[in-house]
Amino acid sequence: MNKRQKIPFNKPFIVGKELSHIRRAVTRYAHLAGAGPYTRACHAWLEKHLRCRKAFLTTSGTAALEMAVVLFGLGPGDEVIMPSFTFVSTANACVLRGAVPVFVDIRKDSLNMDETLLEKAITPRTRAIVPVHYAGYPCAMGPIMAVARKHGLRVIEDAAQGLSSSHRGRFLGTIGHAGCISFHETKNIISGEGGALILNEPAMIEKAEIIWEKGTDRSKFLRGETDKYTWVDVGSSYLPGELIAAFLYGQFQHAAKIIHKRRAIHKRYVRALSPLAREGRIELRDTDATDQSNGHMFYILTRSLEERTALIAFLKRRGIHAVFHYVPLHSSPAGLKYARVSGSMRVTDEISRRLLRLPMYYEMTPADVEAVAGAVRAFYERA
Ligand SMILES: *Cc1c(COP(=O)(O)O)cnc(C)c1O
Repeated sequence: MNKRQKIPFNKPFIVGKELSHIRRAVTRYAHLAGAGPYTRACHAWLEKHLRCRKAFLTTSGTAALEMAVVLFGLGPGDEVIMPSFTFVSTANACVLRGAVPVFVDIRKDSLNMDETLLEKAITPRTRAIVPVHYAGYPCAMGPIMAVARKHGLRVIEDAAQGLSSSHRGRFLGTIGHAGCISFHETKNIISGEGGALILNEPAMIEKAEIIWEKGTDRSKFLRGETDKYTWVDVGSSYLPGELIAAFLYGQFQHAAKIIHKRRAIHKRYVRALSPLAREGRIELRDTDATDQSNGHMFYILTRSLEERTALIAFLKRRGIHAVFHYVPLHSSPAGLKYARVSGSMRVTDEISRRLLRLPMYYEMTPADVEAVAGAVRAFYERA
C-alpha cells in the first residue's frame, strides 16, 4: 500500500443538484430566510419517506433536541433518562432548561441504552427518556415505549445517526413522541450543519410550529389562517435558512443511493475484518443487522485501551484517520456537574476505551476500504 495515501475519517460530498438548488434559491425564488420553498420540499420529503405526520427542519440535530425539550416543557429538576455513551447534545439540551440527565448503562451487543435498567432509574421526578440509536442501530423501542406508557413519560428519540434505519417496519425517529435527526457533515445525508424534528401528535405539531418560529404564530399567518402574527409563547430561531434547505434537498433526491453506498461500505468492512474477529483479535458488533440499519458507521472493538491507542498511531502513519468516542458523559467535567448516574456504568466505561471508528464516507472506494482493512490486519499480524 502507498504510504502517502490519505484516507480521511470523513469527507463531505455532493451527489446531485445541491449547488444548482442553492443558485435557484437565490435567483429564482429570491428567498434566503427560513420556511421557504426548499424548506417545504424538505419537510414533504421527510414526511413521505419516514411516514410521519410532521417534520421541521432545524439548524442542527442539537437544535432539534432542544426544541423537543422545550416542547415537552422539561424544566428545573425534571429528570431525563439517557445513556452516558452519547454525544454531548443529548444531555446539554436538557441541562440548558435546568433538567437533570440521569445516565443508565448500555447493552454490550448494540451499544444502545439497556432498557432493562430503566425502571430502576425512574424516580418521582422522571419526565422523559431519550434513547440514542447508536450507529443507526435501533434501540429496543418496544420495551422502552412500554415503560414510558406505564410511568407517563415522554420519549424523545435521538435518531441523529439514524435517518433511514428502521425497526420493525417503522423508521427511527418516528416511534417515540419526538424524533431528532442530524444532517451534520459527518452523518449520512448532510447539509453541513442541519437537523430535523419529527412529530406525530397534532397538538404537539401546533405548539412546535410556534417554538420553531421564535415564539410567534408566523406559520399560521403565512398560510393565511390569521391576518397578523404576534408573540404567542416561548420559542427561538430553530429554522435553517433556505441555502441549507436547498443543499439538503439535493441530497434527499439521492438518499436511496447514499444509504445503499454506505451499507455496501459497511458490508465490505465486515467481510474484510471478519477473519480477525474469528481469531478473537477484534470484536465486531451486530453485523447481521446491517440490512435494517443505514450503514452510518463502522467500528471495531479492540482488546484494550493500549491496543487501540497503538492501532490509531499505526493507522495514522499510513495516512489513515481513525477516531474513538465517546468520552462517557458521566465522567466528563460537565457531566459530573449537571448529571447523575443510575447504577453501574461498567459497559459504557469498557466500550468507550475499546471502540474505534474506521473511515466511512460516501466517496470511499472499495480500494479505500480494502486499504484500511489491510492496515488493520497488518497491525495485528505485526506482533
Ligand atoms: C451528531 C449527533 C448529535 C448532534 O447533531 P448536530 O447536528 O451535530 O447538532 C446528537 N446526538 C448524537 C447521538 C449525534 O450523533
